[in-house]
Amino acid sequence: MKKTLHLFIFADALGWELVQHYGILKKVTPYQKKCETLFGYSATCDPTILTGTSPREHGHFSFFVKCDPERSPFKQMRWFRWIPERIGGYHKIRNRLSRYFAKSQGYTGYFQLYSVPFRFLPWLDYTEKKDIYEPGGIIGGQPSIFETWKASGKNWNRSDWRCGDAANYAEIEHLIQDGKLELAYLFTAGLDATMHRYGPWSNEAKTAFLEFERKVEALEAMASQHYDEVRIAIFSDHGMTEVTQNSDLRRRCEALPLSYGIDYTAVWDSTMARFWFNSGKAREQITQLLNEATEGSIVTEEQLQNWRCDFPDQRYGELFYLLNPGVLFVPSFLNMSHVPGMHGYSPEDKDSAASWLTNFETDQPVNRLEDIFAVMEAASKD
Ligand SMILES: [Zn+2]
Repeated sequence: MKKTLHLFIFADALGWELVQHYGILKKVTPYQKKCETLFGYSATCDPTILTGTSPREHGHFSFFVKCDPERSPFKQMRWFRWIPERIGGYHKIRNRLSRYFAKSQGYTGYFQLYSVPFRFLPWLDYTEKKDIYEPGGIIGGQPSIFETWKASGKNWNRSDWRCGDAANYAEIEHLIQDGKLELAYLFTAGLDATMHRYGPWSNEAKTAFLEFERKVEALEAMASQHYDEVRIAIFSDHGMTEVTQNSDLRRRCEALPLSYGIDYTAVWDSTMARFWFNSGKAREQITQLLNEATEGSIVTEEQLQNWRCDFPDQRYGELFYLLNPGVLFVPSFLNMSHVPGMHGYSPEDKDSAASWLTNFETDQPVNRLEDIFAVMEAASKD
């Protein structure tokens, strides 16, 4: 019987523009095309890749949302509100607090307090409480591809997203040499981290891309020795944009004569701000501020519908403001200072596009993130 390995490689932020610019992976995956991304971040895109459903169906979009202070899991965080932001934002303290908090709440998903000011936390909730890669992890209740793989009875493996790339490569190499593996999902996040730190067009990014290509080629060569056929699909959740301008809109908004939590609630992601209003006065003043600001624009209802991010209960905000590509909120709830590479801009911008790279032709076209699931599902029936 013919022995086949289906190897799916997820590479965070492997954008289509970057694949073309660096001219990588042509040998190992000669079929290369653009894959339309989604409005949002990995928090939006990854559940779509894992379930084949749109954000409005799976219910994931961004980590922080408005919450009634009585029900907020961050109620206890009010004791930290006197810590100045420049100290409160200090990474080591916040990382340690994040770990402590996630453990105390029983969260199994990715949890990070980032730079959300302690004084605002009591008005917020966190959405990704469960591990989206495990059964029951998707808010909308959809099963992930791994439940399909498990039910298929085939020998399958998925990297642990908590482990670094080196450990994940080592694990897959070991399993390939063992020769029993039939379905694999390799998780890599090194490109994303390098580009956030140095920018997408930096020498460091170039080195990381060439290294990624070398590793994939080595995996393919190794697998070819143990299998009759090795089918490889490399894909990403989104691309990466060079940051060329910072926006202090958060400071301008907080200078308005309005009280956070009383008049309005806002979440400042790195490239978008989301608002909930408790008074007409707050809606009016903030809308005016956003209309006068030139670094981005208010997202229309029609755009949210087209982007499949129209959540019926407005859970992620009543009003969204999205920055122009290359602009970054400094400070935001995600970062306190400048970052040279970021994603989360209009999904229609060229640098936002994701990639779909394979060494085989698929029965059904993969044009957007929702289409990847069907290919992974078909592999389990092969
Ligand atoms: Zn990222």
